[in-house]
Amino acid sequence: MNRTLDCGIVGCGIAGTAAALMLAGQGHRVTLFEQTDHVGPVGAGVLLQPSGQRVLAEMGLLDALLPKVEPIDQIHAVTETGRDLVRLQYGEFHPGVTGAGLHRGDLFSLLHGQLESAGVRLMLDTKIVRLRDIEHRPTAVDARGQSHGPFDLVIAANGSRSVLRESAGLHAHVIEYDYGALWTVADVAPVRRQLFQIAHGTQQLMGLLPVGGGRCSLFWGMHRNAIDALHRRGFGRWRDDVLRLAPIAEPLLDRIRSFDATRFVTYRHVHLRRSWRGNVVFIGDAVHAMSPHLGQGVNLALQDAQSLSLAIREETSVQTAFRRHSLNRRWSIAYYAGVTAFLTPFFQSNSRLLGIGRNLALPVLCRCRPTRRMMLRTLCGKDAGQMPINPAAHVP
Ligand SMILES: Cc1cc2nc3c(=O)[nH]c(=O)nc-3n(C[C@H](O)[C@H](O)[C@H](O)COP(=O)(O)OP(=O)(O)OC[C@H]3O[C@@H](n4cnc5c(N)ncnc54)[C@H](O)[C@@H]3O)c2cc1C
Repeated sequence: MNRTLDCGIVGCGIAGTAAALMLAGQGHRVTLFEQTDHVGPVGAGVLLQPSGQRVLAEMGLLDALLPKVEPIDQIHAVTETGRDLVRLQYGEFHPGVTGAGLHRGDLFSLLHGQLESAGVRLMLDTKIVRLRDIEHRPTAVDARGQSHGPFDLVIAANGSRSVLRESAGLHAHVIEYDYGALWTVADVAPVRRQLFQIAHGTQQLMGLLPVGGGRCSLFWGMHRNAIDALHRRGFGRWRDDVLRLAPIAEPLLDRIRSFDATRFVTYRHVHLRRSWRGNVVFIGDAVHAMSPHLGQGVNLALQDAQSLSLAIREETSVQTAFRRHSLNRRWSIAYYAGVTAFLTPFFQSNSRLLGIGRNLALPVLCRCRPTRRMMLRTLCGKDAGQMPINPAAHVP
């Protein structure tokens, strides 16, 4: 669009900050609302796939991030007996391509650190609870009753628990998973250059993801109702449980002394039949939250922001831009949401049968060339072969 737009963005997460930087880069006036009164490098390990790396490269930010990431050459999952379930090498999909293990906080800090110089106005402690006049020039109403705007467009990037879908008249289909994970990060890495997971049936799942700087993130999958009992049993007993399944995690667990160093997160699946109405559009987890088993949350959020900003740059009206963006993203989001929803119970559920089926089927699917290729393509994103960069070349 060849005029300067007033853009309101709700949510200073990965999707919101990326969209804010891209739109400010096009010369639009951007106000970014965040409900918390301070933001910082919070989170644990995330896997930046080639698709997400590509977006950051095109934003000119990847080089600044690379010294902080661990190049990930392979995804390796085994059963409790050490039998291979999945072993996928990124380089097999396209030579030189790798994943990047990183601390979500490092990515957030990088994006957040650019906001001021890009001219984005960040309003902290401003929880947006309602949107008005969404068909024309939307205004955003905060929890104190104060109105902000009117804006030419509002982007709701306020995560899976978005309270704004209702006020845009969009119905979200939400599934709360029974399972979540206990996360921690320590400054020692028992595995290098791989995401390593051990699954015992569908009840126990442990993962180690190195996240750069010699640090490693550990996650321990568990039922959401079991967290209180786990805390009551005490840290030592949990440590024993983890080490029984994964002795390799010992150096990491030696660095943490109590549950204070851990955080329990639950997952939800969010599906919106359409992602926009009037001059309001939803991106990131607000439209398509999913369990983290495919490691795509951050990547899809970055791709959403890029697709939307390109559509806004090239289209002549806000609503044609939203339509183009939503058509552009539709199949990719449907694919990842569908595959993730299908796979999740095979890794975390109450069904023993699904665990047995997974142990039988996954190694075969992984060996068979066409399905192996499909798995790699799912992991990397369809454009990974065009990646201009190779994190491995940048990191000592
Ligand atoms: C603090 C935090 C830590 C995380 N850690 C991990 C992790 O370790 N591993 C992992 O895989 N994923 C993690 N995630 C999730 C991951 O970042 C997302 O799946 C992915 O990046 C997509 O993000 P998003 O920007 O769409 O939503 P989110 O990252 O959820 O960001 C949404 C933002 O909107 C703000 N917000 C919500 N409602 C309102 C409102 N009404 N008004 C104003 N602001 C609002 C929230 O405070 C938040 O800052 C984390 C998310 C957060 C918020």
